[in-house]
This record gives sequence, C-alpha cells and structure tokens, in this order.
Amino acid sequence: MIKLYDTRRRQKVDFEPVEPGKVSMYVCGPTVYNRIHIGNARTFISFDMIRRYLAWRGFDVTFVQNVTDVDDKIIRRAAEEARTAAEVAEEYTRLFIEDMHAAGVQDPDIRPKATEEIGTMIALIERLIERGHAYVSEGDVYFDVRSYPGYGQLSGRDVDEAESGHRELRADGQGLEERKRDELDFALWKAAKPGEPAWESPWGEGRPGWHIECSAMSEKYLGLPFDIHGGGADLVFPHHENERAQSECACDSTFANYWMHSGMLQIANAETGETEKMSKSLNNFLLLHEVLEQVRPAALRMLMLQSHYRSPLVFGEQRV
Ligand SMILES: [Zn+2]
Repeated sequence: MIKLYDTRRRQKVDFEPVEPGKVSMYVCGPTVYNRIHIGNARTFISFDMIRRYLAWRGFDVTFVQNVTDVDDKIIRRAAEEARTAAEVAEEYTRLFIEDMHAAGVQDPDIRPKATEEIGTMIALIERLIERGHAYVSEGDVYFDVRSYPGYGQLSGRDVDEAESGHRELRADGQGLEERKRDELDFALWKAAKPGEPAWESPWGEGRPGWHIECSAMSEKYLGLPFDIHGGGADLVFPHHENERAQSECACDSTFANYWMHSGMLQIANAETGETEKMSKSLNNFLLLHEVLEQVRPAALRMLMLQSHYRSPLVFGEQRV
C-alpha cells in the first residue's frame, strides 16, 4: 500500500485509487508568457518523478497538464512587444515543451490548451450559475464563495483569513472589485476590454478566469473524482482552493481525492552563503534553459531529487 501526504487532510494517508490499478493525475501547467525558471522546473521535475514512480509500481497512469495560453501576463507582454497574445503564447508554449524535454520530463498524456477549451469552460460556468453558485455582473461572472461551505478546507484558512488573501491579490487593481457582491468572490469570466483576445459567451464577449480552466479540463479528461491533483505549494491558495470550490459546487462530487504540493526552491547567495527567495528584484532569478547550458540535466535532476519533494530546496551552482 502506498501512503502519501494529502494537503487537505494534513497527514499521510493510504492511497486508494478510484479504479484499482489506475491513477488519474492532474498537475497545473505553465502560463506561457516567458521561459520557465528553475523554481517552476522543480515542481515539474517532482511530479515527473512521482508519475514515473507510480508507473514503476505498476499503475496505469493518466497524466493531464494544461497550458494557460490566455492570461493578463500574456496580454501585457504582447502589448509591450507589439505582437498578438496568440503569437506570444505559441512561442512560449513551444519553448516550455523544449525546456521540459531538455530536463528529461515526460510529456503529459493530454496537454489541453485554455484557448481550445473555451466551450468546456462556458458550460461549466453555466452550470454554476444555474445551481446558484455564480452570478453575472456587467459582463463578468463571479463565483459566490460563501455559497460553498467547504471553502478554506484545502488551505486551512477560515473565510475571513481568505478574504485578506484576496485583498492582497487585488494589488494589481483590475477595477473588477466593485462588480463583486462580496470581496471573497473571484472571476470565472471576464468581460472583454478593447484590444484583448475575446470569445463569444452567453454573457457577452470575454475570456475565462484562470481557476475555471483547471476545473473544466480535469473534469473533461479525467472525470470526477480523480485521484491526484498536484502543483507547487504556492498554488494551494487561492488557485487550488478556488478550483475545488468550483468543481465540487458544479458536480456534487469530490474533486480530487488527494492533493500533493511540491516545496519551494530557494537560492544560496554565492557570496554570503545565505539562502534567499528567488526573485527578480534580488537578481537571483535563474531560467531553466540557462542552467541547463551550464550543467547536465541528470545533475540538475539529481540535485532536485535529493531533497524530499515537499521540503524547501536550496539551489546553488556549487551544489549541482
Ligand atoms: Zn490549476
């Protein structure tokens, strides 16, 4: 019997797949607006290891990973470079796949793209509106967080703590908040702004929010409940909390039976030897393809797999 640590239950539990001998797994993929950094790479290498281990143990694994190819960051980059959002997304999707191959990460069995699944997302949003878990406001659609009593169980927050988390997230100020009934609510669909990519919907032209993408794709390709939902620890809140709320409200089913999250990557400062968070402002931001120009992929994987996947990992060139 395999035991694994489930983020929601905060303990190691016996792993019992929905279908004996099979494992259905969904791991959130990249937002394709730049090359991935080694912190992202750690998440993908960790789940590649977990997937390979389960296959080695004899399970027939189905692994789904999305590509977020419509998003504010992609639109911003396209505007800066006078290109279309589709051109930016296409370039960085191709480079992401190249980077993953270079790092020895197996392709997912299914790699759906958000822009090719708009209809699936619209259908899911319609279900949420019909069931009273979502509402339309000036061409946007919002999820009614207080309509889902389980909100906060995954990340271990109560609703009022969650509220302050959302407040922080709104620092970029998209001018959306006054359209919400409650500060906690989050967008399922965003009305089109001039010059942005947009699709027809029952609520007017617009584009999907990020969270709804994973709910729609995991249900479509794996069915509910599926076995393992994975991602970096930074996705637990709000992204995974929101995915779970959407899916459980739309489907009368558990969403994922097990939640696995990989630890964050830290950088060892070459001069002081102290560890610090990887960030652009500290100028210690390392892209995966740059690291792989210096070290062999097997050495990088070896370093990453020497730390337990849930523990923080300290990266320094002298360690590879
Ligand atoms: Zn996701």
